Amino acid sequence: MQFKDITGQTEIKARLLNVVREKRIGHAMLFTGREGTGMLGLAIAFARYLNCKDPGETDSCESCSSCRKYGKLQHPDLHFVFPVARKKTGDKDPVSDDFLPLWREKVLENHYMRLFQWLEYLGVENKQGLIGRSESMQILKKLSLKSYEADYKVMIIWMAEKMNAAAANKLLKLLEEPPPNTVFILISEEPGQILPTILSRTQQMRIPKIDQESMKKALSEIHGIKGEDSAGNIIRLADGNYLRLLELADKSEEAGYHFSMFVRLMRLCFIPDFVGVSAWIEEIASHGREKQKHFFQDALRIIRGNFIMNTGAVNIDLLSDEERDFSEKFSKFVHEGNIFALNEEFSKASAHIEFNGYSRLVLFDLAVKTARLLKA
Ligand SMILES: [Zn+2]
Repeated sequence: MQFKDITGQTEIKARLLNVVREKRIGHAMLFTGREGTGMLGLAIAFARYLNCKDPGETDSCESCSSCRKYGKLQHPDLHFVFPVARKKTGDKDPVSDDFLPLWREKVLENHYMRLFQWLEYLGVENKQGLIGRSESMQILKKLSLKSYEADYKVMIIWMAEKMNAAAANKLLKLLEEPPPNTVFILISEEPGQILPTILSRTQQMRIPKIDQESMKKALSEIHGIKGEDSAGNIIRLADGNYLRLLELADKSEEAGYHFSMFVRLMRLCFIPDFVGVSAWIEEIASHGREKQKHFFQDALRIIRGNFIMNTGAVNIDLLSDEERDFSEKFSKFVHEGNIFALNEEFSKASAHIEFNGYSRLVLFDLAVKTARLLKA
């Protein structure tokens, strides 16, 4: 993870680079901010820069011995502490190191990950993650060792508010008498829950929401979403949170696909072309049950949107711009005479998929009925 891998945060990056350049490296820093701002990525990029043997003006190098290990998050002087939980009661107290391979994999995959997602990966999503007493013993042990090869040993504590009292008190001792050449980077979304005595011993840095320009760039680079309308909407709703941006972009991609599948089915039913319908059914069937259910949710929304458009009675907008263009013409086929039946048939098909799994027969039946209803 390098600075270039973190979306936006230009000012924070500049400040962190300055800290290293001016050698004002404190022994404990605290990054605070909301989810999706990139705090964990920034902490790792900073630690990497700090230990890079050939640092550039704005980022660490790609090839020195330290950076190569940092690239895999496998540097012997880079330590992570994060909330963990017992898988079942009776297990011994878990510590971060027990889950280190999984942690590395998930952070490299998405360093914006939220706590809930992490607990889900651990398979303990119904429990509270905790940084407990055993963990603090572990921290103590690691830091009492001499650093292997780096200039700075770095200990990144993710979601520091999850430290219980025992862990927090141990950490406080360490912050009062910091081991030489050690940098703690605490990351917290809820700094109000951290012991005030710990807070007062850290150099705090508030990580802001991601600026709109950077969000826009990320959206067009990663998802190819550029259209002013949909991109503007996503960026506004994401509100500086990169995780939300990804989720909204996925949703909008999915909705676009569902719309195209809906249009295809309506055309096939209208002709009617039941050979085409069979191919359509095969495509829907190639997706998992959850995805199929999402298709039906969108299809039902589009059908209702068309009925509303047809009556012109209520001013509710259920449709995207693209869907509305199509519906200008299509809405005349969705009216009082068939809306109840269409609604019922699509709802039934959706329920069938949810409870009984996929059935080609049910979908074929739906297409036949839709063909008849559109002519009604
Ligand atoms: Zn390097």
